[in-house]
Amino acid sequence: MAVKKKEQNLKDVKNFIFDLDSTVWHWNKLIPGVKQTIRRLEAKGKDVYYVTNNSILTRKEFAEKLSDLGLKTEKDNVICSSYVAAQVFADKNIDRVYAIGEKGLLDELGKEHITKSDDADHVIVGVDRNFSYWKMAKAAEAIRYGAKLWTTAYGENFRAGDRILPGTGALLESVKRAADVEDAELIGKPSDHMTKIIKDEFPVLTNRTVLIGDHLQTDIVTGNKLGIKTGLVLGGTSKKEDLSDIESIERPNFVFKDFKRILRKV
Ligand SMILES: [Mg+2]
Repeated sequence: MAVKKKEQNLKDVKNFIFDLDSTVWHWNKLIPGVKQTIRRLEAKGKDVYYVTNNSILTRKEFAEKLSDLGLKTEKDNVICSSYVAAQVFADKNIDRVYAIGEKGLLDELGKEHITKSDDADHVIVGVDRNFSYWKMAKAAEAIRYGAKLWTTAYGENFRAGDRILPGTGALLESVKRAADVEDAELIGKPSDHMTKIIKDEFPVLTNRTVLIGDHLQTDIVTGNKLGIKTGLVLGGTSKKEDLSDIESIERPNFVFKDFKRILRKV
């Protein structure tokens, strides 16, 4: 059992970074208590940011979706794996990829003048609700011809309302099996690509910033890599039992039984 960290509250914390899926929403529905809690935090002068491995939308569309659900958000306060993918490829001067993904991923790539092509040297897998046999086949073919495989996320599923839908990780596994490869390079949390963009674009100040999410191996590791405070909200992917046998990089400063309990620490 690792030693508990000393931080007792979040009173000095100014910046709250939240994960989205299973922390803030179940895609089309905010989780009970979230709206009131975030509004209360904002009323106390806290700044709110979001970081998601979801690639379905662009960062602007994620901000609009949050705003439509009652959490007014600007584009610059959201980082999503679709946006990070486009930045990573642009940075490496990659201008053609074979992308499995939805419009949000393709639009972010398009903003960086990265086009979708069947015979590209890079394949990226994001969540795609129109995934098909032939998309899998094209991705696998490109990889067999030497293309490098990337993924926006490893998560096998995500909750949308009352349903649990296949996530990027499930699609990725099928592509890996079809192409007979073991690995894909991760773009989303907790990759260095994601932490770099968070560092570049959000005010990540040690002791003044906390990252709160539902998954130890993605959210908490990301926050710990950034050297900021971390909080796990139960009720999503990681369970209370999971805390008993983890690496120190996966250990959160705070564990909240539900989202509303965050307010007890501020
Ligand atoms: Mg999550």
